[in-house]
Amino acid sequence: MSHKGSAIPVAYLKGVGPSRAELLVSELGIRRVDQLFSLFPIRYIDRSRFYKAMELQPNSSDIQMIGQITSLKTVKQKKRERLVARFEDTTGSIELVWFKGAKWIKENIKIGKPYVAFGKLNFYNGNFSMAHPELELLSLFESRNRSSIQAIYPSTEKLQARGVSNKVINSIIENLFREYYVKIQETLSNEILDKNNLLSKKEAMLNIHFPKSQELLTRAEYRLKFEELFFVQLQLLNKKVNEHQKIKGFKFDKIDNYFHEFYNNCLKFELTNAQKKVIKEIRKDLGSGIHMNRLLQGDVGSGKTIVAVISMLIALDNGFQATLIAPTEILANQHYIAIKELLGEIGVSVALLTGSVKTKERRIIHENLEKGDLHILVGTHAILEDKVRFSNLGLSIIDEQHRFGVEQRSKMWLKNTKPPHVLVMTATPIPRTLAMSLYGDLDISVIDELPPGRKEVKTVHRYDKNRLRVFKFMKDEIAKGRQVYVVYPLIEESEAMDYKDLMDGYESISREFPIPSYQISIVHGKMKPADKDYEMQRFIEGKTDIMVATTVIEVGVNVPNASIMVVESSERFGLSQLHQLRGRVGRGADQSFCILMSSFKLSAEAKTRIETMVQTTDGFEIAEVDLKLRGPGNLMGKQQSGVLYLKVADLVKDNHILSIARQEAIDLLKEDSDLSLTKHQNIKNTFDKITQKSNLWSHIS
Ligand code: ADP
Ligand code: MG
Repeated sequence: MSHKGSAIPVAYLKGVGPSRAELLVSELGIRRVDQLFSLFPIRYIDRSRFYKAMELQPNSSDIQMIGQITSLKTVKQKKRERLVARFEDTTGSIELVWFKGAKWIKENIKIGKPYVAFGKLNFYNGNFSMAHPELELLSLFESRNRSSIQAIYPSTEKLQARGVSNKVINSIIENLFREYYVKIQETLSNEILDKNNLLSKKEAMLNIHFPKSQELLTRAEYRLKFEELFFVQLQLLNKKVNEHQKIKGFKFDKIDNYFHEFYNNCLKFELTNAQKKVIKEIRKDLGSGIHMNRLLQGDVGSGKTIVAVISMLIALDNGFQATLIAPTEILANQHYIAIKELLGEIGVSVALLTGSVKTKERRIIHENLEKGDLHILVGTHAILEDKVRFSNLGLSIIDEQHRFGVEQRSKMWLKNTKPPHVLVMTATPIPRTLAMSLYGDLDISVIDELPPGRKEVKTVHRYDKNRLRVFKFMKDEIAKGRQVYVVYPLIEESEAMDYKDLMDGYESISREFPIPSYQISIVHGKMKPADKDYEMQRFIEGKTDIMVATTVIEVGVNVPNASIMVVESSERFGLSQLHQLRGRVGRGADQSFCILMSSFKLSAEAKTRIETMVQTTDGFEIAEVDLKLRGPGNLMGKQQSGVLYLKVADLVKDNHILSIARQEAIDLLKEDSDLSLTKHQNIKNTFDKITQKSNLWSHIS
């Protein structure tokens, strides 16, 4: 309701009053009349169904019965009194119980007359009972033309205790509709309503609270979900359109020597079709004169590095510098080495800047960068320091968005008056639904194909009691010259315990794999960074056979010779973590293995996670399962989950509605980017109201 009525406090509504109003605020956060419209039912009960006493089950919830009261007595227990009625139908009986208001009941109840009793069924000591039932004479019940589907609203103990029952809320909502129904305003255009066969806002609101039929309830839900998702998408897309218009980007219209030389002389393999497709998308962006803000998703090993290198060469061909930022030193190092190797002798100057680069060397890098002699700078967030100035930075590539965070993304912009193009690479597969909602303001490219000849990692589940066989298998593989990771969980809350598990594990592995036949590295969070790097490096160089570690190795480390990943207590890892860990192996030519160890007792969810890992290596499939298990909020971490707060729609289940709503939003902005057409007035009003109220979106870009 975007009108004067919306500001009216609920206390003024008939049936509310000051004390209930206070409760509505404190318990349900409802202050104003318009908020009451959006107090959506949490579920519905079918009041066309009547149960017989003999049909009742101990786990029945809200039920209604037709019967008569045959006796009424007061029962004293300790100091409390309760009124108990026997309620009978032709098949049996239950008890109706009142702890309060007995006097009124005694005076008004009609023994022997048919009633409808409705309420929550309790089962205790072999008896069914109903406390404080809704009771209505059958004759009255039948005379009322009520909806047979009844809404159940969210409630709290306090509301119940203070007499604000579901029945009371229902009647408050009835009053609400009586007084304000006419003021409900349409939020969508006729065009969108017609095309998608949507109920009007009024009909939808009416049927969400007082469904006339199951079919209308379904359509009402659909309409409200559609509306919610539509406006989320409209906000995201509008932001994108605005940014594109406002922010001109550098125009890289040349494809020149660096690119061609690399393509013809340095590339040792044919690009996959997915890589080609993505490069085409990026080229199009870079050449368009519009600022690029693109997310590149590709599973571990899908070959994102080549795409990054080719994109950087396009920048170089147009006289610009480029940078690649990684979340850790080890990764930055690996990228640096890989890029140097890839670029061979084509005369591109590349440097590495991390926290451990010495001051003298650092100064040289700063100088060359400012002079423009340095073409590509690879590094960690050290690159973001103010002292680091480019002569003409044209492209920033950020690896592993997940770790890096969004803040840094915007920080790159400050380095130039005109922002460099931005490419964010992530190996964390984000389900399409989620990506559209979270990164609707980014363009998305996906590498959905692995380079040919890659052997799929074989994944198995083993119980702890079979550890000796696992050790034997490790020995066999090490004898063939392979290396092994053994990873332990690290969960902050139980850090001390995890540390002990890790150390116990390390000890038993040391016993099983004694020096000098075997060399073992260990890396965990309590070590100094320098020590960690030293141990890591020994493993990378093949000087050690086994790497015992906590999850610090999760991110992007590349040791092609490591072919076994043993995950201890795998039931304690999340799916995306398991997937990332598995991605550490299978990088070389050899058959690789992932062994998920667990205790015998597993929760249903842990079982699903482990089974999923055993069944598939497809990161997107795994991400979908993860989304279903954990819900969107948890998937992206706290920082971003606020964005996903939806009132009616569900990102997982309402996937298809999202796609349709998104397309409508796209079409709308194409036709009328500032919503100035009269026929879009409803949408504009709603949009303005939402954007004034929230800047929910401000923190995601
Ligand atoms: P990620 O996407 O995980 O960053 P990388 O870029 O590190 O993957 O690539 C993984 C490995 O695959 C590298 O050794 C790389 O050289 C190789 N690679 C990349 N693209 C291809 C391709 N089209 N054909 C064969 N090998 C490729
Ligand atoms: Mg990578």
